Amino acid sequence: MGRVTVSLSDLPLRDDLRGLTPYGAPQAPLAVALNVNENTHPVPDEVASDILDDIAVALRDVNRYPDREFTALREGFAEYLGHDLDASQIWAGNGSNEVLQHILQAFAGPGRTVFGFAPTYSMYPLLAQGIGARWTAGSRQPDYTITAEDAVAQVIEADPDVIMLCTPNNPTGTPLGLDVVEAVYEASRGIVVVDEAYQEFAPRESASALTLLEGRPRLAVSRTMSKAFAFAGARVGYLAADPAFIDALRLVRLPYHLSALTQAAAVAALRNAPTMLGMVDDIIEQRDRITATLEALDYEPHESWSNFVLFGGVADPQATFHALYERGVLVRDVGIPNHLRVTAGTEAETTAFLDALASIGSAS
Ligand SMILES: *Cc1c(COP(=O)(O)O)cnc(C)c1O
Repeated sequence: MGRVTVSLSDLPLRDDLRGLTPYGAPQAPLAVALNVNENTHPVPDEVASDILDDIAVALRDVNRYPDREFTALREGFAEYLGHDLDASQIWAGNGSNEVLQHILQAFAGPGRTVFGFAPTYSMYPLLAQGIGARWTAGSRQPDYTITAEDAVAQVIEADPDVIMLCTPNNPTGTPLGLDVVEAVYEASRGIVVVDEAYQEFAPRESASALTLLEGRPRLAVSRTMSKAFAFAGARVGYLAADPAFIDALRLVRLPYHLSALTQAAAVAALRNAPTMLGMVDDIIEQRDRITATLEALDYEPHESWSNFVLFGGVADPQATFHALYERGVLVRDVGIPNHLRVTAGTEAETTAFLDALASIGSAS
């Protein structure tokens, strides 16, 4: 029997998915991978064995479906976030990407619009597309900041069903003032999502949008364990919002969407939060070293409150990307002309990147 191969175009794919390409940050086996904003520090040994103990216990009951309401995990996140939150205001999923997908499934969908200020997280348009909603991109100032006045004007014009506010913003690192969040909320009728995937890397004294939740039932603040928490491979993201908002997400999640093993691992990791987050200060130090060194090399780094730096002044991003690649360093070409993005790694990885870049020559 011959095996017949067909191509994607031969299949009865949804019309609105024809011609699209899947999300695909390269996963190349390079020694220094600084391309997807992970915490590149490995999970400390003592934490890994503590997590393993909890997974071992969960494994004994894995013949049964897990707690559909992942109660212990929600309690853990409420405690971690503080701000007087309780478990009824918490949701979680397999990465904050799934959490964001739940939001769009519940509040967007065919005929509805999802809005964000570009350049922003490349998954937003893909998540919108996946559920048949329309993505509308607003704009930012040349330095990627947004004023409340400008944001409000754009939101009124677009009149979206869901607004994605990413702060600090990926791929630019730009913080967004809470005044902008408040103004956008007031000016809109839709859901306002503040994606704080990188909040742990922001200055300690900067306020989170969690402080705005009270009295704003259309607002949600999403977080992830993939960045500061060194837990990207476990796939755990979460959000805080009004209990009614959480109820809406229950309508669209798959039953038992968080496996018992994921729940056990995440609860144990949260119990070890201070150790898991112990490297954050070090990463911030490396980020600031990247910024200072890029400036010395005549590149144009943008202000970053995250664990990565977007820098301009790159004459030929593809050529620089490949020159770094050949030197064993993986960075990200995010498609912004004359720019590249690099994640702050360990001190050794950061040095490897900076040395490799310096060996290619200064910005021209
Ligand atoms: C990395 C990232 C996420 C998190 O993705 P996970 O699915 O939790 O791994 C969410 N939002 C932004 C802006 C990100 O950069």
